[in-house]
Amino acid sequence: MNKLMPALFVGHGSPLIAIEKNEFVDEWKKIAASIPKPKAILCISAHWETHGSAVNNNEKPKTIHDFGGFPRALYEIEYAAEGDTKLASEIAKDIEEIMLSSEWGIDHGAWTVLMHMYPEADIPVLQLSINHDKPAQYHYDLAKKLSYLREQGVLILGSGNIVHNLQLVKWTDDNYAELSYLWANEFNEQVKNLIQENNHQALIDYKKIGNDETENIKPIPTPEHYIPLLYILGVKNENDAISFYNDKIVMGSLSMICIKIGE
Ligand code: ZN
Repeated sequence: MNKLMPALFVGHGSPLIAIEKNEFVDEWKKIAASIPKPKAILCISAHWETHGSAVNNNEKPKTIHDFGGFPRALYEIEYAAEGDTKLASEIAKDIEEIMLSSEWGIDHGAWTVLMHMYPEADIPVLQLSINHDKPAQYHYDLAKKLSYLREQGVLILGSGNIVHNLQLVKWTDDNYAELSYLWANEFNEQVKNLIQENNHQALIDYKKIGNDETENIKPIPTPEHYIPLLYILGVKNENDAISFYNDKIVMGSLSMICIKIGE
């Protein structure tokens, strides 16, 4: 039996991380070096939401600078990975819910991470959008249908943040200072425990996670940064190992935790 490609959830932080050197990007590099080189990467990024689920089928996906107010150097970055139109068509053919789209490219949820993991940009990159109209269960179920891609050497990469509340971020000179709200820690810990217990239903019903302090879903006021996690859980087999990296909360309300499924 061929070895299954691991799947990865990455906490991506601020776009500035693209041009920074720190412990988080060092860990991303180490993870990339420790897994087989993927045939292609299918990224589910928090930053591409659509009506319906779509996979991009551009031969040369453009680098999307989908943020404002950052230094010029960030806007000049091009992540020149190719697309994989053949794989995109196969996915759209195999899975009823997924349509092809040429509107997107590679957004910062993907490239700020990939330029550290695979700086050569020599692996084709596809993105799968987050269907904005669907509940958490839909995303988990859709991921199950994508899990065969692991047998084909495709790296399924979810990019978001398990705790992501920009309104409550504590701004300091050091963007990676370890300052966390109690509720942020609590939510992060509970999610981690549920992942370890393979309690996927509780993770799908994430609105019930937490305690009195996490009411009003402060950890994830909008779900788009959490949903990529559901894709990684959905492609997990019962026997897959689970590993955690970068388990820190920065700026009070951003969890940088990464989760690897499989070896
Ligand atoms: Zn983001």
